[in-house]
Amino acid sequence: MTSSTNSFDVVVVGGGVIGLSIAWRVGQEGLRVALVDPDPGGGVSSIAAGMLGPTTTRSAYAEEELQNFNAISAAAYPAFSIELEEVSGMKVGYEHSGGILVAVDAKAGEGPELSFPAADGHRGDGVRFIESVYKYQASLGLPVQMISSEQCRLLEPCISPQATMAVLYEDEGHVDSRRLCQALVRACRAVEVNIHLHRVVHLITKGREAKGVLLDDGRQLDAASIVLAAGAWSHLLNGLPEMVVQPLRPLKGQVVRVRSRMDAVYEVPSRTIRAHVNGRHVYVVPQLGGQAVVGATLEDEGYDTSVTVEAVHRLLHDASLVVPSIGGMEVVNLGAGLRPVAADNVPMIGASFVEGLFLATGHGRNGVLLAPATAEAVCKLITKGVVDESIRPFSPKRFYRETDGS
Ligand SMILES: Cc1cc2nc3c(=O)[nH]c(=O)nc-3n(C[C@H](O)[C@H](O)[C@H](O)COP(=O)(O)OP(=O)(O)OC[C@H]3O[C@@H](n4cnc5c(N)ncnc54)[C@H](O)[C@@H]3O)c2cc1C
Repeated sequence: MTSSTNSFDVVVVGGGVIGLSIAWRVGQEGLRVALVDPDPGGGVSSIAAGMLGPTTTRSAYAEEELQNFNAISAAAYPAFSIELEEVSGMKVGYEHSGGILVAVDAKAGEGPELSFPAADGHRGDGVRFIESVYKYQASLGLPVQMISSEQCRLLEPCISPQATMAVLYEDEGHVDSRRLCQALVRACRAVEVNIHLHRVVHLITKGREAKGVLLDDGRQLDAASIVLAAGAWSHLLNGLPEMVVQPLRPLKGQVVRVRSRMDAVYEVPSRTIRAHVNGRHVYVVPQLGGQAVVGATLEDEGYDTSVTVEAVHRLLHDASLVVPSIGGMEVVNLGAGLRPVAADNVPMIGASFVEGLFLATGHGRNGVLLAPATAEAVCKLITKGVVDESIRPFSPKRFYRETDGS
């Protein structure tokens, strides 16, 4: 099914976890698919910590529907990762080992207390924070359980004795997002997706119909369906008619990947640990090979992806107060990426006002989690013309009123 022409059934713009998952699924249906990205997996998707949690980004719009979508995608992960590992021949590090949200009283901690500002303006109110999160999530019917600091340390002995109170999430997984992206590239190739290591410089339209895309090497790819999955850059594509893609906010996040130098059991937690340390948030997500991702900042800095000394310092300082063994670990790498955030914090998935142009972007803080369900729904939409109920609230058209184009 390789195409020597520049004509495809589907062109996917952007090869992050969202675009790659869609291209793979559509390719499996036997359609001729092209995916265009100068560096597939090189966007925020490989920076992500890989938490597959039940927590929701709070949003005034469609909160319940988003929670439902999170749950659908989390439930799809075991089969998704097994299939991907089989096809790609590589491990993606999926584990359904649970998560813990814990408060740590840093004043009584062993490490030096530095004067980093509190993220939510308070200090030392971790217990109140944990209780409020617990109440909110329990009210949504999520399977959460309050546990004592003793129970917490029995489950995860690497957690500091200064832990005060915790919430246990038994139904939570994690994955290695870098490996996930690499495996998805292999899976796409296995179903003969044409991967073009180029940038799309223009969307080609005729009237209100999408016809194809122009690449930075001057080639044109024609297709009946174009999927725009270019993350935080999606709305910047030249040639997009006005009021088709609501501008996205690039919300920067920095992470540090560390590795245990000892072969010691309990050095790295087996569950995802999210912590509240003196009003600041930090997490430690276990990964394959004794590694863990420590994250993350939330910065409204435009399209800057530099890694800063202050952020790395703060993350490692706070993470060491929660999991003291981190202080002795090796730094594997540092990274920063841009979360694609829509105006109402809810993804944009589905048909646009331009015929043949579909959007799959705006996944914010949960794009890795939402990749399987997004890919499934977009594939159904393109191959069968059916809008899955799960994505109906996320229509990109919700921001605009339809006009007759005159
Ligand atoms: C620090 C941090 C931690 C995170 N942790 C988690 C987590 O634990 N769990 C979770 O679910 N989510 C997490 N996220 C969020 C997650 O990373 C994103 O929601 C997700 O990766 C978005 O995927 P994407 O494919 O839409 O975007 P991207 O991965 O950014 O992919 C977009 C792609 O489009 C390409 N592109 C852009 N413009 C063009 C063009 N003109 N032509 C061709 N290609 C183009 C880019 O090169 C890029 O590869 C985290 C994010 C950050 C920053």
